[in-house]
Amino acid sequence: MSALPTLNPPIRTLLGPGPSDVHPRVLAAMARPTVGHLDPYYLQLMDKLQNGLRQVFRTANRMTFAVSGTGSAGMEGAVVNLIEPGDSVLICVNGVFGGRMCDVAERCGAKVTRLERPWGEVFTPDEIRNAVAAARPKLVGIVMAETSTGACQPIEEVAKVVHDAGAMILVDAVTSLGGIPVEVDAWGVDAIYSGTQKCLSCPPGLAPMSFNERAMEVVKNRKTKVQSWYLDASMLASYWGSDRVYHHTAPINMSYALYEAVSVILEEGLDACFARHALNHRALKAGLSALGMQYAAQEGYQLPMLNAVRVPAEINEAQIRSALLQRFGIEIGAGLGAFKGKVWRIGLMGYGARPANVYLLLSALEQLLAEQNFRFDHGAAVAAACDVYAAG
Ligand SMILES: *Cc1c(COP(=O)(O)O)cnc(C)c1O
Repeated sequence: MSALPTLNPPIRTLLGPGPSDVHPRVLAAMARPTVGHLDPYYLQLMDKLQNGLRQVFRTANRMTFAVSGTGSAGMEGAVVNLIEPGDSVLICVNGVFGGRMCDVAERCGAKVTRLERPWGEVFTPDEIRNAVAAARPKLVGIVMAETSTGACQPIEEVAKVVHDAGAMILVDAVTSLGGIPVEVDAWGVDAIYSGTQKCLSCPPGLAPMSFNERAMEVVKNRKTKVQSWYLDASMLASYWGSDRVYHHTAPINMSYALYEAVSVILEEGLDACFARHALNHRALKAGLSALGMQYAAQEGYQLPMLNAVRVPAEINEAQIRSALLQRFGIEIGAGLGAFKGKVWRIGLMGYGARPANVYLLLSALEQLLAEQNFRFDHGAAVAAACDVYAAG
């Protein structure tokens, strides 16, 4: 037997599609003493965390909580509770995560209708109205911030047409929450889930969720048991509600992390936080445009926190990503699926969305592009970002 080598993870700048850089206050919170999951201190903390999550989701929903697991557990938790075998579901697919939602729904025994759009485009309320009229689904699933393409799907009008047809709407807010406005009550979203490691700047491990009364009625009136014991919302409601019935041991220190992350956002103010994401996105976009790079998502529907850009054909994209990591400690994301080898996905999420990171990335990119003899106006990317910040 021999001891394991000392744990010594490198310090990176995480500018990919997630995980994003964790706020130092969040890392410090995780090192605080672990208490029991029924300790009075922890129960109070859960109440305060729920209160904070309601503010971030902009909802009064009683059933606002955090599932133990990553964003995909939130996706599975929403679908498995709202869908019974044989139910009809319409899912909007314009990237990887809409596709994942179809897979999850099929595994729950749903009859799934896929409404597809080319990658990088968004859905219009009209096409969803037509698809809903044809499929008559119980639930429509849609991704707000498609992390695989950088497309930003407007939700408000879509929620209206879904409700007009008598269906419920489920929104994936994994990447959007904390980076752009998510208005659960104002838009009438019935169920929503997120994840901690995108714009909330926490490590991965919890999935904030919210169900409105209508969704909880659907859960209550199921004819069959929820297929997943772990994700059963009625049992989770007994733990998160006033009964405090033990269900599973909550990940205590991860809850500290989320609590601190939500505190950081509420101290900054949601609107200031969204404005910061928008400003840093504009600076990065100006810099990338100066290098001749185009965004993969439809103009006017580009996410501030996930910048997917088409890599010019003459560039060896994998070599640059690898050099960014090896020589500068910067992680950016590769393209997924249809975008494999064709786009870079640059995240400016939460704590990561700040000028220092924009300048760091643009200047490192300029050096690496010059090494590949890519032709561009040297210094132009950094200068373009500088102009955006100067204008404010
Ligand atoms: C990251 C992501 C997920 C999956 O979350 P995991 O934490 O990786 O399980 C789901 N949906 C979207 C839009 C995402 O960006």
